[in-house]
Amino acid sequence: MAEHFVIIGAGQAAAQAVATLKAEGYSGAITVIGDEPFAPYQRPPLSKAYLSGAMERDRLFLKPDAFYAEAGCELVLGTAVASIDRLQRTIALVGGRVLPYNKLLLATGTRVRRIPVPGETLPGVHYLRGIADVDTLRAAFEKGAKLAVVGGGYIGLEVAAVAVRQGLEVTVFEALERVMARAVSPELSTFYQRVHREAGVRLELNTGVEAFEGEGRVSSVRAGGKSHPADVVLVGIGVVPNVELAKDIGLPCEDGIVVDDCTRTPDPAIFAAGDCTRHTTHNGRLVRLESVQNAIDQAKHAALAMIGRPTSYKEVPWFWSDQYDLKLQIAGLAQAGDVLVLRGDPSARKFAVFHSRNGAVAAVEAVNAAPEYIVGRKLIAEGAKVAPERLADTSVPMKNIAQA
Ligand SMILES: Cc1cc2nc3c(=O)[nH]c(=O)nc-3n(C[C@H](O)[C@H](O)[C@H](O)COP(=O)(O)OP(=O)(O)OC[C@H]3O[C@@H](n4cnc5c(N)ncnc54)[C@H](O)[C@@H]3O)c2cc1C
Repeated sequence: MAEHFVIIGAGQAAAQAVATLKAEGYSGAITVIGDEPFAPYQRPPLSKAYLSGAMERDRLFLKPDAFYAEAGCELVLGTAVASIDRLQRTIALVGGRVLPYNKLLLATGTRVRRIPVPGETLPGVHYLRGIADVDTLRAAFEKGAKLAVVGGGYIGLEVAAVAVRQGLEVTVFEALERVMARAVSPELSTFYQRVHREAGVRLELNTGVEAFEGEGRVSSVRAGGKSHPADVVLVGIGVVPNVELAKDIGLPCEDGIVVDDCTRTPDPAIFAAGDCTRHTTHNGRLVRLESVQNAIDQAKHAALAMIGRPTSYKEVPWFWSDQYDLKLQIAGLAQAGDVLVLRGDPSARKFAVFHSRNGAVAAVEAVNAAPEYIVGRKLIAEGAKVAPERLADTSVPMKNIAQA
């Protein structure tokens, strides 16, 4: 019987896995099952160009329809997988259809973390994960409307940047003492706080949201013991991995489906890739990453493992965020105790913060600074040692930085 690979989840990782299977000569059948009614699409523009209206919906899709047909891949969309039977090697869809598999890839991503406060289900309170979410949020973006953003992370701040430029009155509520606190250095947070305030965004730091208030629809946000008027609310307080299918069949899950460096689970027929996984990174840390890079690279490794050619996943993690005219690019994983080295001038809106660990470059956060990001990423992969004072010296071009 011809081989049949099944991929659960029709997102970034799924599209890449199909592309790699095809490129590597897999000639069996593939079925991709997604619960959203869309073929795999890119999410990053959802809080950036698609939200602002600068990008049309058609451009979100990762591959044309013909790509899947040519790859021998059936897309089953708008249908969730309800369960997996490991012994029979079958999956059951909601609605009853049962499909056999030889190899199974779990690429189920994440879902938004809901905020457990009164009024959370009031009309006017939005979350942002998929195309449909942006379409409804965008419809509420009227000039002069009061937008309350709950959570000063990447998504909340990207939405704030788009909204304030469209003439909304924007307030960001962040429970911690600085924005993007879990993701970037204090230097970066301070810089982005200044930029947002200069653009007209009100930042309420150290301010947890206690409730959403309103009769029939949200009209204010209760935070820091006060009511703040709001016409629209966007909650962006993180995501939770979709691990239930894996958990139900006894696969190890720990804030993500635990996979080895080749994306394998303990079941030799089941693999996992993307936001839903937890794996050991290039420098030995167990992490769950939420990024396009991780979804793409892990999916490539998963496809190879599925066709019997497992290879170790050692890519340096990288990420980006667009806010206003600022491209933030991050490579590597920062850690408490890193020595922070500033290169360039934040007031010129072009600088980088390097994280040095035991003399080696461990991570870089670059704002409008492509050479720092590109060379920094290479230095991280090589474990290169560069003295902090040299990293800080802008008279040494980045391309020569490692030649001490
Ligand atoms: C608004 C937004 C902005 C972002 N910006 C950036 C950025 O700037 N840079 C960056 O690197 N990353 C960014 N990301 C993160 C990036 O998009 C994700 O890391 C990436 O999409 C992960 O790919 P994935 O395939 O693992 O999961 P997803 O793309 O989320 O795909 C998983 C799919 O599986 C489906 N699914 C789950 N359970 C089932 C089931 N039982 N049956 C069928 N289908 C199921 C889900 O509904 C989903 O459609 C952003 C994400 C969002 C939401």
